[in-house]
Amino acid sequence: MTYRITDAVAGAVEEIRHSIPADRVLGNEPMSRHTSFRIGGPAAAFVIVDNNKELADVLRICTAAGAEHLLIGNGSNFLVADEGYPGIMIRLGGDFDSIAQDPDDDTLVRVGAARLLSSTSAFLTERGLAGFEFASGIPGSIGGAVFMNAGAYGGEMKDVVISVRLMSPDGSEMLELAGSDMEFGYRHSMVEDSGLIVLEALLRLQKDDPEAIIARVAELQAKRNAKQPVNFPSAGSTFKRPVGGFAAALIDQAGLRGYRVGGAMVSEKHAGFVINAGGATAADVLDVMRHARQVVFESSGIMLEPEVRLINCSL
Ligand SMILES: Cc1cc2nc3c(=O)[nH]c(=O)nc-3n(C[C@H](O)[C@H](O)[C@H](O)COP(=O)(O)OP(=O)(O)OC[C@H]3O[C@@H](n4cnc5c(N)ncnc54)[C@H](O)[C@@H]3O)c2cc1C
Repeated sequence: MTYRITDAVAGAVEEIRHSIPADRVLGNEPMSRHTSFRIGGPAAAFVIVDNNKELADVLRICTAAGAEHLLIGNGSNFLVADEGYPGIMIRLGGDFDSIAQDPDDDTLVRVGAARLLSSTSAFLTERGLAGFEFASGIPGSIGGAVFMNAGAYGGEMKDVVISVRLMSPDGSEMLELAGSDMEFGYRHSMVEDSGLIVLEALLRLQKDDPEAIIARVAELQAKRNAKQPVNFPSAGSTFKRPVGGFAAALIDQAGLRGYRVGGAMVSEKHAGFVINAGGATAADVLDVMRHARQVVFESSGIMLEPEVRLINCSL
């Protein structure tokens, strides 16, 4: 590890150990274990909180100590530096994995932030609730998907989220915001600007025949498998879709399909994905990203912006 753990982080971890059971406060935890890229050095601490009270305690402690900290969902949009993360990574578990239909209106479903989109989709399909098919193959959690306004195949979280329950960044209060107040945009919501924590989302679905939903999910999965490098670790689309173009097409036209540094490579199958083709470091991925940006800018005048969250590293 090449970073120094600050006194603030060390002190906060010490205090967190009084609130959270020891098996859920991991020190020096490799982030390669928690990211879909399978890349990343150790977080100074990795804390799993199982309910609102534990989350509020940890946020309060981190805020009071001035300790660097960050929420991680399913880590499917994370690139963590090889040096690691010098703060406290917080992951939601336990109660945050909940899912339940509203007792008065069974087209309304309340889903905890830690619940995976795939298992949310399976729950909804079983109950004949349509409208979430677009998300079935996105490898994120509800929290990360709300943060990013995740979307695919013409659907996005914005279309199904009625309201979101959130916690303030310092853990002192909880609030519920309507979907229309979430400022959902392209791969963006107000969660990113506010530092609020997503606790759960209320989704509105439509009744449909489960067989029809299963068929649509299967069709989208087949499309995904045909187009995306699903057999290699990655963080999905590396760059955001620029105004007036598609990142994958621009990278492809710039002749970068298969461009490789160390273990990181522009996917041969889908030029919008940088993949970990084996033993890639974060430095390799960043080198590929920098090169792609520069070459695309020179050939098209468009500067690509990363979609993947860069943690303790930059382009
Ligand atoms: C193979 C592959 C395919 C993909 N396909 C798609 C796709 O089709 N469409 C798409 O939109 N994305 C896609 N992605 C990217 C990714 O899955 C989504 O962005 C997803 O929404 C990220 O969710 P996560 O839980 O993994 O979040 P993480 O990657 O863990 O975190 C993302 C951001 O959300 C924040 N965050 C996470 N949880 C919370 C919370 N509870 N409260 C507040 N902030 C939180 C984190 O701090 C971070 O800034 C793909 C990724 C992969 C690997």
